[in-house]
This record gives sequence, structure tokens and C-alpha cells, in this order.
Amino acid sequence: MSANGATQARAHASVDNLRTYLLAAARRAPDRPAVVQAAEGGGVETITYGELERRTDRLAEQLDALGLDVGDRVILESDTSADAIAALLACSTLGLPFVATSPETPDERLLTIIGSAEPALHLRAAPDARPGIPEAVGLARFTAEGLTVQRPPAPRVRHRRVVTPVDTAYIVFTSGTMGRPKGVVMSHRGAIAFLRGVEAEELITADDRVAGTSPLQFDFALFDIGLALSHGAALVPVPRDRLSWPRRFLGFLREAGATQVDGVPSLWRPVLRHEPELLAELGERGPLRRILFSGENFPLDELRALQTLLPKAHFTNGYGATESMAASLTEVPNPLPPDTTRLSIGYAVAGAEMSLIGSDGGPVAEPGTVGEIHLRTPSLFSGYWGDPDATRAVLVPDPLDPRSGRLVFKSGDLASKGPDGELYFHGRADSQVQIRGNRVELGEVERRVGAFPGVTGAVAMVLPRPDGDPLLHAFVTFAPGGDKPDTKDIVAFCRSALPAYMVPQGLHGVDEFPLTVNGKVDRAALAARVTA
Ligand code: ADP
Repeated sequence: MSANGATQARAHASVDNLRTYLLAAARRAPDRPAVVQAAEGGGVETITYGELERRTDRLAEQLDALGLDVGDRVILESDTSADAIAALLACSTLGLPFVATSPETPDERLLTIIGSAEPALHLRAAPDARPGIPEAVGLARFTAEGLTVQRPPAPRVRHRRVVTPVDTAYIVFTSGTMGRPKGVVMSHRGAIAFLRGVEAEELITADDRVAGTSPLQFDFALFDIGLALSHGAALVPVPRDRLSWPRRFLGFLREAGATQVDGVPSLWRPVLRHEPELLAELGERGPLRRILFSGENFPLDELRALQTLLPKAHFTNGYGATESMAASLTEVPNPLPPDTTRLSIGYAVAGAEMSLIGSDGGPVAEPGTVGEIHLRTPSLFSGYWGDPDATRAVLVPDPLDPRSGRLVFKSGDLASKGPDGELYFHGRADSQVQIRGNRVELGEVERRVGAFPGVTGAVAMVLPRPDGDPLLHAFVTFAPGGDKPDTKDIVAFCRSALPAYMVPQGLHGVDEFPLTVNGKVDRAALAARVTA
């Protein structure tokens, strides 16, 4: 350390830091595969833990030379790859929070994120710089050979000496379909506490190869990286351009020897439609043994179809929000019992607990009664970036122990308890809407519409009529091949079971649901079809 304390800070080897935690296998087993990825000239290449650590150290050293301080943000624009992982671990080494974005992120959205995060540096994998990046933001590119700096970041004073576990590891800007993007700030301690809880689930071993399918800016991608590396296993980043081509997607999984595939439920729709035999073969003769899904409800008929093709595979339902990385990982029986109508989200991972709180603010005890999930966990996010009001609204005093000063995450998710205290997801608290003075749970409308034979998916929402009156709409997708049901019959089917105010007044058949970049149903895009 120099006399003025200007030497870059580092985490002490014994304290929680994503770099030390995720590269532990580089000490134990440097020759084991850390990343198995598509090689530039075709085929796959393997990057070992030892090599990943070398790349991390080289990038850390070069970043260090830029004079950044602990807490200075770095935009990390890349697809998931060994070099992107080395870059984010290099940031962690130096206490620089990374904000992951994808090459597909539109310029305007990237600039909005930059405007909010005020990063010191825009670090990217692509050769060309993005247009319009403010002068104060440094520009650099990373490759397997290290860093090339095009424009150094504006000079700054270093105030910090140590990277602590409560320092920010990363900020995830959520997709912002509900308005302006919110930056979820996650600490090293938080992310690692969650991943340690996952270790207790014993989902994978060091011999596994976990295929990740989410874009890097989605915290699901960080979960995939964390899951694989914390177990000394290999991550298999599936190239984005293979995902929409089922044959190439499955071919890549086979070539890389993937034992597990993680992704949102919609990932499987094109595979089920176009390449069911190929998938069945991968499960029968290949190493594929687990499907982990997360992010939204898996439509049950699609899940059943997938299980029929993969009778030997395990299925895991990952539930939770970016604000705690996730909350639970629940084994789904394969096959699902025929009478299953709702998937269990089980219990929180080791070290965390979900409590159901009723509208009276007290605990919900009886099975079947709906309450809001409050999550007690050491993996709580620190807050929303630059938004203390939004933070206070969801980081609230523990309703079961309010005098303790401890905060829990008020999730906005509704659930009920099963006979053993396991939870069942009922939708978002904010999808509770008022229609002509009646309280309506949109999830209940979707369940009824979705129960009509031949309907494969349903999304309900309230949209204003031109005169301003709210109108209940449902969008439906139909099983391919069969005769499309008449929407009038679906409405009659709803009328036979639901009160009149819960019967959709606008029923729209669509070929498929538009998806957000994360692969979740894009409700705003559906709404636009009606309002347009
Ligand atoms: P993530 O990146 O973990 O999907 P987001 O913060 O984007 O998290 O969205 C979290 C919300 O997604 C949850 O609050 C919940 O409403 C929904 N969700 C996540 N996982 C599931 C699941 N397995 N089943 C149903 N809904 C889910």
C-alpha cells in the first residue's frame, strides 16, 4: 500500500467475495473444466478453472491500472462466456459492481441504464463501441488476451482500501415492463449466502455441466454461473442464436455434454413443437438428467409433455425474485400426478424462510388461505439503486418480529400453504384488480380459461375502454394441430364457473405470446395489441 492509500483495495482472502467463492475450485482442481462453450471456428472448447483464474487475474490487474475506486460501477456488455465470467470476477476482485447488459440491449435502453448507474467504465466483448456513451464513461474491450482501453475513465480519487462482503457485487436492472427500470443492488454477502443455501440442496456435483440459456443481464444467468462454479462444475453457456433453432440448440447440448438445462419455461415451447424425438433421444441416450426452470409458471400441459419425453429426468421449479437472487428450488414429481393443478414452490433454500402474511398483517396459518410471501434471508438485496422510497416499500420490518429491527422482503407474490406447509404460488399481489368494485385475481381467470380443452396458455389483464371503463381481457394460445376452439365456447365455459365480473369480455386467440428478452410473457406487448 502506498503512503497515500491509493493502492487498489482487495477483499481479504477469508471474507465473502464472489471472486474467492466462485474460483475456489481453481485451488482444488485447476485442470477441471469451468466453462464449456461454443468455439469460434465451430465445435466446443473447454476453459479450465486454472485458465479462468489466470484470465480473471489479468483483467483485474489491467482494470486496477485505471484507478477506479471500490463501488465504481462497470457496465459489462457481453453474452455469457468464459471471458465475460473472468471480467465479472475481475470486477468483484476490485470491488467494482458490475452491471451486466447484452449486445442485444437497444442503444436507448443502454443509455438509460448508463444515465442511472453513472458507471466509470463501459466494458464490452464486441469490437465496436456503442454510439452516444457519455464522455465521462471510459471505454474498453475485453478478450481472452486481456483488456484494450479506448478511452480511460475520468480520473477519480480513491477513498476505499478494502472490499467488504457488504459491498455491491452487481446491480441488475429489471426489465422495466412496469415503468422505469429498477436497479436491484446485490452485495457479495447476499449473493453468496443464497448460493450456499443452494449447495445444501445437492442439485449438482462437480461432474455436472450446467447449460445456461438466459441473457447475462438477467440474474438467472448469474444464478447459472454461481451454481456451476460454486460446485466446481462446468457452465455451458448456450449461444443466443441457437435458442430459437431447436435442432441446433439440442445439437449443442449434446456436443457440450450438458447434464442439466436451466431456463425459463418458454425455452421448451419450440423444442416441444418441432423436435420432440430429438429431445427424447437426448434424455434416453445422452447425459441430460435435470431441467431447472424459473421465472414464471410452467403451463402444466407443456410441462407434462416435456416429462413424457424425459421420463428419467429430474425437474426443479426455481421460484423467487432478483431481490434475493431466488428463494426456493423445489423438486417437481416426474410424472406430475394427474390431479395436479398448481406447482409447489416448496420451502425456501437452507438459511432462508418464507412466511405468508395476510391482509391484516398477521401470519396465515390455515392451508389454502392466500397470503403474501415475506422472505427472511441473508441474501436480501441492499436496495433499489437511487430509489429509497421503492426500497422502503419492500424491505420492511419482519411482521413476525417487528421490534427486532430486522428487515424482510415483501415479495408482492401471493401463495397458499399445502398440508405440509409447502407453498403454492397464486400470482402477483398487484394482479389483484378491481372490476366494478369486485376484487378479481387475474390468476384465477387465467386458470379457468386455461382449463378449456385445447387451450395451452392464458393471460388475463384489465385494459381501459376508450371511455375509460376497465374491461377484462384474456389472451389464449391453442394446441398446435387441433381444431381451434370457438372463443364463444371459452367464454361460456368461464361463465359456468366464474361470477359475471370475472368472465373475460375480450377474448383473443394468439399464435404465441410475445416474450420479453428474459423469455417471460410480455404483458405490455399483448396489451398494445388491444389498445392499438
Ligand atoms: P427472476 O429473475 O428470479 O425470475 P424477477 O425479479 O424477474 O425474477 O421476477 C420475479 C417474479 O417472477 C417473482 O416475484 C414471481 O412473481 C415470478 N416467478 C419467479 N419464479 C417463479 C416460479 N417458479 N413460478 C411462478 N412465478 C415465478
